[in-house]
Amino acid sequence: MGIESSQATSHAWQRLAAAMRGALLLPGHPDYEERRHVWNGAIDRRPSGIARCADAEDVSIAVKFAASEHHPLTVRGGGHNVAGLAVRDDSLMLDLGALNRVEVDAQARIVRVEGGALWREVDAATQPHGLATTGGFVSSTGVGGLTLGGGVGWLMRRCGLAIDNLIAADVVLADGRCVVASADQHADLFWALRGGAGGFGVVTRFAFRLHAIGEVLAGAVFHPVEAAPALLRAFRAFTPLAPEQGTLMLVFTTAPPAPFLPAQVHGQRVVALAYCWSGDPAHGEQALAPLTGFGEPLGRVGGVMPYAAWQQSFDAHAPAGDHYYWTTSIFDALDDALIDALVPDAAAPPDPMCEVHVHHLGGAVAAMPADASAFVHRDAPFFINAIGRTQAAGKFTEVRAWARGLRSSLAPWAREGMQPNFAGEVSDWHAKAHDALTSKRLESLRRKYDPAGLFLPVRND
Ligand SMILES: Cc1cc2nc3c(=O)[nH]c(=O)nc-3n(C[C@H](O)[C@H](O)[C@H](O)COP(=O)(O)OP(=O)(O)OC[C@H]3O[C@@H](n4cnc5c(N)ncnc54)[C@H](O)[C@@H]3O)c2cc1C
Repeated sequence: MGIESSQATSHAWQRLAAAMRGALLLPGHPDYEERRHVWNGAIDRRPSGIARCADAEDVSIAVKFAASEHHPLTVRGGGHNVAGLAVRDDSLMLDLGALNRVEVDAQARIVRVEGGALWREVDAATQPHGLATTGGFVSSTGVGGLTLGGGVGWLMRRCGLAIDNLIAADVVLADGRCVVASADQHADLFWALRGGAGGFGVVTRFAFRLHAIGEVLAGAVFHPVEAAPALLRAFRAFTPLAPEQGTLMLVFTTAPPAPFLPAQVHGQRVVALAYCWSGDPAHGEQALAPLTGFGEPLGRVGGVMPYAAWQQSFDAHAPAGDHYYWTTSIFDALDDALIDALVPDAAAPPDPMCEVHVHHLGGAVAAMPADASAFVHRDAPFFINAIGRTQAAGKFTEVRAWARGLRSSLAPWAREGMQPNFAGEVSDWHAKAHDALTSKRLESLRRKYDPAGLFLPVRND
């Protein structure tokens, strides 16, 4: 499968531009440069054109154009994919950025979200009703890519992954047809959309189940990096028994110049325990105390706040335009030997902006049957992300080598595979996002829904 690159004639481009309600940006258009860039500044690709779709009909028109012209295609949701799946040289980019309407049915506890919306736009619509659904750990990520890859976030242990709340999706298929995928309609496609990590069609609208979550108890407790081995052991002991209202994360980072930290630690390497409790705050204080009360912290921040405020509080740590390389591994346990291997690399990265995130799963994520969706490893208790980041393009190779090296040194304890959402390379997306059985099922559904491979990401890294 895989569509060959072709040179669409200028006549064909004109026909596409005339047929669409949204704009077609060809190289040289004043908006072309801005829209070709994605979140990761290390990705620098030049699409042949950018179709700024105004509605599902535009999506269908652009898809039919690509299919009939044998022109390669990419889809841009929030543009956050670290491997840059949304953009490819000499391909038509379907830019869904203008498809960002969000409608809440508070009575039915359902939110309908267009395919190019960001999580913060979902929160803005749902939170005034005291409602929320699982989105990411930051609010600037696209609903589209995050959901199709599974979708972990602060509410997942209580509410499940983003895909576990998906009720239906409106999808434009490779032949331009618009269909609904749900438990009752195109159920096989619905299964593939939930964790298959895209590549089956363009989702123009998602419908998600909402939960009664207004405020959360959330914050971060900062420790010197020397405390990391003991804190990791405490995290390992606490998390398997943690109530499902609580989602926690250990973050190796560099202390920001923030008022809640003493001046002498600003710029020093630290490890932070970040937490979000989506139940009764008094119960949360008590339930999380074994970890939030650990050791002698350098400082702490947090309290009871709207869920949306907490989700936005990490946005500034992941600005668009820096050079990023991420990778990720999945673990059955955090062995002492793994901790010994992790800490030195996490404590001394080549750029102070690099981070390591230690996550746990469990709760509602693990409660869902394994074959209910195409998301693999929902039973895994832990995963660790190496977040390579630098502002200096010349340092990118070193940062990438650090992240890859960290993953290699953890490999003896890791499961095969990785969560597709954190795959830093298209080759990993292809090779590691799914186990053999799931891959086989996904391939057969691709043959059914996208036989020419129009939507299949091409290995270009
Ligand atoms: C700062 C940051 C924080 C993140 N936090 C989390 C997190 O907490 N949890 C998590 O699970 N992941 C997280 N991720 C990973 C993120 O979910 C993936 O990178 C995801 O691919 C981004 O989706 P997007 O729509 O923003 O990206 P894009 O780059 O626009 O799209 C990514 C892929 O999804 C496809 N796609 C997007 N929208 C649609 C659509 N509507 N229909 C069909 N295909 C579509 C694209 O074609 C592309 O292949 C984070 C990423 C970043 C950069």
